[in-house]
Amino acid sequence: MKKPWSDKLRQAVPYAPGEQTSDRDVIKLNANENPYPPSPKVVEAIRQFPAEKLCLYPRITASPLVETLAEYHGLKKEQVFVANSSDEVLAFCFQAFFHSQKPVFFPDLSYTFYPVWCDLFGVPYEQKPVGEDFRIRLSDYAPENGGVILPNPNAPTSLAEGPDFLRALLQENQDVIVIIDEAYVDFSPYSALELLDEFENLVVIRTFSKSRSLAGLRVGAAYGSEELIALLNAVKGSYNPFTLDSIALAAATASIQDEDYFRQCIEKVKATRTRSQAALEEMGFVVLPSQTNFLFVTHPDFSAEAIYHACNDHDIFIRYFKQPRLENYLRITIGTDAQMDHLFAFLHEYLQR
Ligand code: PMP
Repeated sequence: MKKPWSDKLRQAVPYAPGEQTSDRDVIKLNANENPYPPSPKVVEAIRQFPAEKLCLYPRITASPLVETLAEYHGLKKEQVFVANSSDEVLAFCFQAFFHSQKPVFFPDLSYTFYPVWCDLFGVPYEQKPVGEDFRIRLSDYAPENGGVILPNPNAPTSLAEGPDFLRALLQENQDVIVIIDEAYVDFSPYSALELLDEFENLVVIRTFSKSRSLAGLRVGAAYGSEELIALLNAVKGSYNPFTLDSIALAAATASIQDEDYFRQCIEKVKATRTRSQAALEEMGFVVLPSQTNFLFVTHPDFSAEAIYHACNDHDIFIRYFKQPRLENYLRITIGTDAQMDHLFAFLHEYLQR
């Protein structure tokens, strides 16, 4: 029965993340997590954390993480913003930067959280279909708009655009904020960070969840002009000034301080990506040229949905999106070599049936 207050409630349709489970022992290749543990320095920072200090609030400046990131990227600390995951950073960005009557533009195939935030915050938007080749079409972003956001590399397509594309996009959109969501950038050759000096309307978003093996810690960052970062801090200060806790600040700082481990993990994931692409192609899959820690694949003779269910029944989680244009594609996170071999052995058998 309809409750008397029902029509006063907000209607919210949440984002649907990749399936999580704790009660089944599965090979988890469905959420683009890193198969390797975080740096031993991170583990040590958490072990050594003085728990008695938890009676105090964390530093409002998110110190020392903000300073460490600023130094790492050669930016001023006033150009760095951090919060509890890049999802939260993005939510702050949507509230801070997309405040126009004109629609915000983003690709139809991209992070499915973007339309959720638009709906929640009342931001008008228009999704621009990617081409037949799944690439983002620059000309779609030329008409007047209220802002632009896109992941680069894109998810779930795994494809990346280079410096010419990004420079042209920014040149075409100088009167709005352009957000480049670089969740997967460490597995790709090019970052928009180097364009920050040139374009004051650019905001670059990063996460510790993928390349830094810290999805469980929830740490994300934004980089931009001092003016835009000050606005992000004002929005955060209007909502929850201390979104990153003291342990997360210490652990994330330790991660940035272990460059060798970070590079090693990325190289391992990239090497497994190369070999996984070859193995899948050998079985007849078409694999897009990934610049991420996942592969976006289809098979001309087998239903992606059926493969997804078969994998699931055999305790292998991969991602399937039941939506137009994606219904015969699968997104497979790069795991360890052993995890991928297990998947390939299963697929090999499945395709023979
Ligand atoms: N952006 C993109 C493109 C993503 O795929 C993800 C991961 N789901 C995120 C942002 C959010 O990552 P996190 O909240 O773990 O930092």
